[in-house]
Amino acid sequence: MSAVLVVEDEAAIAELISLNLRHAGYEVTLASSAEQAQAAIDKVLPDLVLLDWMLPGQSGLQLALRWRGDPRTRGLPVIMLTARSDEADKISGLDAGADDYLTKPFSTKELLARIRALLRRQAPEAVNTTVEVSGLRLDPSTHRVTRRMGETALEVKLGPTEFRLLHFFMAHPERVYSRAQLLDRVWGDHVFIEERTVDVHIKRLREALGPVQCAPLVETVRGAGYRLTPLPDGQAI
Ligand code: CA
Repeated sequence: MSAVLVVEDEAAIAELISLNLRHAGYEVTLASSAEQAQAAIDKVLPDLVLLDWMLPGQSGLQLALRWRGDPRTRGLPVIMLTARSDEADKISGLDAGADDYLTKPFSTKELLARIRALLRRQAPEAVNTTVEVSGLRLDPSTHRVTRRMGETALEVKLGPTEFRLLHFFMAHPERVYSRAQLLDRVWGDHVFIEERTVDVHIKRLREALGPVQCAPLVETVRGAGYRLTPLPDGQAI
């Protein structure tokens, strides 16, 4: 289930959006000002933000700019909501870092379509397609991880957290993620989880990948975090 933060000061609109999103299966958090939105973001990163341009105090545009300037929130998918339909405003909204832009009034159908499209672009791990790196295959629909070794495919037994962790890494190869980013993206709500928990699960994941010779896929990047790197060609089966 994807988590959406709705930042909207007009209570009636906020309620209507959140009702429709919950009905469509999203987990919704509401914020009615830039300060509340920032507090929510500091606590847990949502999968997507619906951000109203016109907010009391700091505007949605300023908030989007601030998020783009912070490494933790740089990749946060943002759809800007606005009553303005000027082309110039649309351009400044997108320049500020919004990924998409919706002019009020909009239909629920359009809003949901834009959200789905943006989530698909941003989070390949949320899609039920099989991912494969260096002969290691992960199928989200059957929850199976296998590696072909010669004539047979060996199955890798993983706990639920290791499965999600591996899925996330395989969907984002070659990119380094800090422990805090992994907690955000793999665990979701991490308020009460310590960063060293990540190390524990990385260790378990490597142990599980050992029998199929894939433990070296998960690299430690000193001072930065972890990264999944495909094995050198010779080692891929
Ligand atoms: Ca407003």
